[in-house]
Amino acid sequence: MVCHFADLHTHTTASDGLLTPSQLVAQALEAGLRAIGVTDHDSTDGLEEAMAAGKRLGVQIVPGIELNTQADDEEIHILGYYIRYDLPWLQDMLAAIRHVRWTRTKKMVENLRRMYNFDITFEEVQQEVTQGAAGRPHIARVLFKKGIVKDVTEAFEKYIGTDCPAYEPRYHLPLEQGIKTIKDAGGVPVLAHPGLLKDQKHAMLAIELGVQGIEAIHSKHTPQQCEYYEILARKYGLIVTGGSDYHGEKGKNMPQLGDIKMPCSVIEELKSLVQKNLHSRG
Ligand code: AMP
Ligand code: ZN
Ligand code: FE
Ligand code: FE
Repeated sequence: MVCHFADLHTHTTASDGLLTPSQLVAQALEAGLRAIGVTDHDSTDGLEEAMAAGKRLGVQIVPGIELNTQADDEEIHILGYYIRYDLPWLQDMLAAIRHVRWTRTKKMVENLRRMYNFDITFEEVQQEVTQGAAGRPHIARVLFKKGIVKDVTEAFEKYIGTDCPAYEPRYHLPLEQGIKTIKDAGGVPVLAHPGLLKDQKHAMLAIELGVQGIEAIHSKHTPQQCEYYEILARKYGLIVTGGSDYHGEKGKNMPQLGDIKMPCSVIEELKSLVQKNLHSRG
């Protein structure tokens, strides 16, 4: 089957995805995708393996990252495509952010033990984390495996969602700094899934602060939202990107790889912005 589509938002075991980079790429091939963006939270540790697998299997890998940033009380996710992930200052920064993820995970496990008397330990959560970026999905998976919740969604709804008692906030880069970080690393900053923002003024703020694309097409957007953000992106001369946000979970209501199919021409648009950014910096 010849297919010309790309899914530009996925996660691997380098953060909170369930599949290793190689497994993800193999699945992309099965799903008939020509390209995937690998965008782990606060980590680029899956990229080399993904690129090697991509080369082997003939799937183009768009190297990326997803930085969770903050403005006011809102968490705003910024995707960064084609960042130079060999930069030592960037890796130091990411390592510091992942460190904070661990201390916060520990606090949440303590909350769950203290508030609900759940039989769950930090060590069990640690075992769920294959590489470095610990997150709430890892906690949710332990709760599920122990039969405390019927699925991961229930864990978020009842215990670890942002409005739940056991939730612990963690440090996020300020939005402006997140966007600047991606640009300083030679990448293209893109506002991820704006439809999930509580306050739409933060989408406008991200545009003001210099994102160069909007992920208008996302598995959790309604068709109306996709259309709205596509128009918004065009209005400001920004790239329209899209992706499933696949985490390797198979359950119903979970986004699947290739649920979002973008034309591969988006990749060319991203690459030409990388060049343009490079030249405008001299
Ligand atoms: P964290 O970065 O540790 O705060 O965890 C956030 C991650 O949890 C997101 O990137 C999603 O992958 C996942 N997540 C957030 N809300 C839900 C939900 N309601 N159900 C399942 N996964 C979720
Ligand atoms: Zn995630
Ligand atoms: Fe996100
Ligand atoms: Fe994501």
